[in-house]
Amino acid sequence: MPRLDLLIAHNFGLSRGQVTRAVRAGRVRTPEGEPLKDPGLKIAPSALPRTVIFDDEPRVLRVRYHLLQHKPVGVVTALRDDRHRTAYELVRDAPLGRDLRAVGRLDLDTSGLLLWTTEGALLHRLTHPRYAVRRTYQAALTGPWRAPPPELELDDGHRPEILELRPLAEGEVHPGLHVPEGTGALASITIASGKFHEVRRIFAALGAEVLGLCRVSFGPLELPRDLPAGEHREIDLHALFAGT
Ligand code: URA
Repeated sequence: MPRLDLLIAHNFGLSRGQVTRAVRAGRVRTPEGEPLKDPGLKIAPSALPRTVIFDDEPRVLRVRYHLLQHKPVGVVTALRDDRHRTAYELVRDAPLGRDLRAVGRLDLDTSGLLLWTTEGALLHRLTHPRYAVRRTYQAALTGPWRAPPPELELDDGHRPEILELRPLAEGEVHPGLHVPEGTGALASITIASGKFHEVRRIFAALGAEVLGLCRVSFGPLELPRDLPAGEHREIDLHALFAGT
């Protein structure tokens, strides 16, 4: 059962000590205005208040949180890293930021849709190969467009299941795709697995190098065209994935 002090601390970006002192000073109240007394109180998720009054301000108290990030190129999908900025640094100030975990990974040089959730079970459900969540990427490639052969084998012998691979029409190019000089073809590729460097290795097997790569959808979610790189939005993941 969640401890109220930890939940408040994680929602509002405070330390547990700060919450304990605020509770003891009567600064935290129930929606009905009753001061909370016991900072260590454990409450069943179903009985948790949706809001608390903190320093006279009603504040939403979330027990779970999911967000959709537009990961920029040049940040690693990690909680910490010695050499690069991390995608986590860009979301950790969100409510429950300390409990957020990335749903899968994007390479350092890949931009696009990255989900974050506080729920381990949901993370497992969305990344486990058994559930084969579809992901679509847009790619800027060297060389002309090449249609894939019926059977494609990667450098390690793996035969990827490509659900769709086609050239991109100009109007379809997502603003999140970096198209550097020297780009030949633009492609859209949909796969339902998340193996290491899979898209880059698929194109390598087709004789093309990936110069820009952007994930534009994951399951039923699409990367909003108006969400700038580095920004994120809260989403209701359970509603979206119900029944998929
Ligand atoms: N495939 C890749 O090669 N890179 C990514 O970041 C994601 C899928």
